Amino acid sequence: MESVQERMERLGTKEKIATFMQKEKQPYEFKRKYAQIRAEEFASECDGRGLNYHVSVGGLDSIVLYLFLHEICHINAPGVSASTLEDKSIQWVHKALGIINVPPLKREDGTYWTKPRVIQEFGFPVISKEVAGKIELLQNPTEKNKTVRHAIITGETGAYGGWQKNSKMQLKQKWLELFGGYENENEGCDYEKPDFKVSSKCCYYLKEKNCDDWGKEHNSVPYLGLMASEGGRRARSLRMNGCNYFGASTIRSAPFAIFHRQDILQLALEMDALWKEGLKEKYHEKLLKENCLSNSFKMPDSIIPEIYGTIEKKPDGTLYTTKAQRTGCSMCGFGIHIEKRPHRFDLLHESNPKEWDYLMFHMCKDKDGNDYGWAKVLDYIGVGWDPTTIGGNCKGQISLPLDQMV
Ligand code: SF4
Repeated sequence: MESVQERMERLGTKEKIATFMQKEKQPYEFKRKYAQIRAEEFASECDGRGLNYHVSVGGLDSIVLYLFLHEICHINAPGVSASTLEDKSIQWVHKALGIINVPPLKREDGTYWTKPRVIQEFGFPVISKEVAGKIELLQNPTEKNKTVRHAIITGETGAYGGWQKNSKMQLKQKWLELFGGYENENEGCDYEKPDFKVSSKCCYYLKEKNCDDWGKEHNSVPYLGLMASEGGRRARSLRMNGCNYFGASTIRSAPFAIFHRQDILQLALEMDALWKEGLKEKYHEKLLKENCLSNSFKMPDSIIPEIYGTIEKKPDGTLYTTKAQRTGCSMCGFGIHIEKRPHRFDLLHESNPKEWDYLMFHMCKDKDGNDYGWAKVLDYIGVGWDPTTIGGNCKGQISLPLDQMV
C-alpha cells in the first residue's frame, strides 16, 4: 500500500506547498489581482463544464468575497448562507445583499436541527474543528478508529501513515492532559476527561450538509472565502491544491487562499467604500424590484457587520477590527481559547444578556436532568467567562498565535 509520504512525493506536494507559500508573501496588489484571475478562471472552467457557481457566505471574509466577485470580477454568482446561525448584524448585511438563506438539516421527526439540539446530542464545538474532531473520536471509540485514536494520543501512525513517530495527528500536550483520559487504560497514561461531550458535527448539521445539498440541487459549486493563513484543517489542503480545485468529489474556488488577515481587511475597506459611494442604493433598488426586500427594510450603512466594530489602523499601519476578530455563530467555541477578552461570549453578554444566560447555564441537560452550558466547558479549558473579571488578570487573557489553535 502506498503510504501518505510516498503519495505526497508522487504528487509533488512539497513543491506545491512551497510555491503557494511564496505567493502568500507577495504584496496586497499582487494578491488582489491574483484572486481576480483565479476567480475568473474558475467561472469559465465551470461554464465549460456546464456547472453553476455560487458564493458560500458567512462572516466578513465571504461578504467581502461576494462583493469582490460581483463588483470587481463581474461574476454573477448568487450568495448562499445558513444565515440564521450568524450574528444579527451579519444577517442584516446578508439581507441587504440578497443572500439566499438555507435552513439547517431536518431531523427524522421533520423538525429542523438547532444548535442546542446538535450540541446536546453530539457535543460542544470547542477549541478548533480539528481538535474537536479528534476528541470526538476519543469519546466514541470503535474498533475501526483504534489506529487513529492511538495516533491522537501518541503521534504514532500505522502503515498508511508511514510509521511516523511524532505525526501531527497527536493532540497538543495541553489538550491531551484535559481530554486524553479516554485512552488511559489502552495507552497506560494518566490524562483527564471531561463530563461533557465535544464534537465538530455542529457545522455539518447546521451549515455544511444543507448548503452542500443546495449546491447539488442547483448543480452549483462554491466560491469560498477561505485563507490558508487562518491555519486549521483546511490550510494544508489549500496549500496543496491551490485556489481552484476540480477534484473527483470536490470542486471549489477559494480566490483569497493566499490572503492574510491584513489583505482581507484592506479589501473590506475597499468594498465598504464602494458601498458608501452608491452600491448601497444599487442593491436596495435591485432587491426591491425583485421583491426580495420589504419597503420598510433599512439598508445598513456599512458592509462591515456591527459585531466586528470598525476597521481601524494601528500606528504601525496594521489594520484591525475594533470588536470581534472572527465570528461564526454566537455560541461557537472554536478559537475561543485564543481570543482576548472581552471575547465573543463577553460581547454577547453585553448585547443580549438573556441569550448569554441561556447559553452559559441552561442550553443542555446532564444525565440527572440538571441544566448546564458553556460556562462548564469554558471553565474546563481555562477560559474566563465571568463578565466581572474582564480586564483583570483573569483566566482567558492569554493570546496565542494562530498555529497554537490546533
Ligand atoms: S460555526 Fe460553530 S456553532 Fe456554528 S455551526 Fe459551526 S460549529 Fe456550530
